[in-house]
Amino acid sequence: MFLLKDKTAVVTGAGSGIGRAIAVAIAEAGAAVVAADIDGARAEDTAADIRLRGGTAVAAAADVRSRESVERLMARAEEGFGRLDIGVFAAGIAGRVHPFTEMTDEDWSEVLHTNLTSLFLCGRAAASRMMVSGGGSIINITSQLSEVAQLHCVPYLAAKGGANMLTKGMALDLAPHGIRVNAIAPGFTRTNMTKLDTPDWRETRRAVLQRIPMARPAEADEIAGAAVYLASGAATYVTGTTLYVDGGYTAA
Ligand code: NAP
Repeated sequence: MFLLKDKTAVVTGAGSGIGRAIAVAIAEAGAAVVAADIDGARAEDTAADIRLRGGTAVAAAADVRSRESVERLMARAEEGFGRLDIGVFAAGIAGRVHPFTEMTDEDWSEVLHTNLTSLFLCGRAAASRMMVSGGGSIINITSQLSEVAQLHCVPYLAAKGGANMLTKGMALDLAPHGIRVNAIAPGFTRTNMTKLDTPDWRETRRAVLQRIPMARPAEADEIAGAAVYLASGAATYVTGTTLYVDGGYTAA
């Protein structure tokens, strides 16, 4: 039920953290994976790791902020593996962690573009191919901070909140075409993103860590199973939902 044999997946942000863990897990479930990242060498590192474990993967350097780059990425999957069944869009940035009135126009547009517009670009490019081939599964990586606000990260909150609603809207439009669209909202996860070290970030991190019911951050591997589930035959009636994998954060 959870096997992804004969499926092809594109995973963005696959060079690090949650995207990397998802790329590895999806490949372990049997899918051929295009591991994409803005840093081509890191993407290749993930693809090589998958191949070493006996899976099938190629790497691609892709900037999810660019329509051309995203189109090339989806075409690469089709050319390499003949079809595209699964898109997991995990590329993202934290942006500057700063008090609201000190946020610049650039802070705002950088985070909105990388974390929200990218999902529109990737989703549209993937879905247009899936419509032709008869269906698929799109998974947007959002955040627990799509639901619960936190200090000093207004652009990130807005982008992630928007991403959950983007997911619902896409799910409605694409359901008639056999394409399911869901989001995974991770809780605080130990990755490069959360290693940031500035005074404002330390304050935000302390506030987040204090209120996790499970009293610890997640490891990236703990987010990956949700992606395998949502991509698989175990979730054929699941669309338009956000699956919180957050140690109980949004329940508290
Ligand atoms: P990460 O370790 O920094 O991985 C993100 C990857 O995406 C990095 O390799 C990054 O490259 C890449 N990337 C950034 N901008 C890109 C672009 N324009 N095009 C293509 N790739 C790009 O962070 P992570 O924690 O795994 O985050 C993955 C996703 O989970 C993000 O959407 C994040 O918002 C979300 N999330 C994370 C947490 C958490 O606590 N870690 C919690 C909730 C949600 P660079 O390193 O060069 O930027």
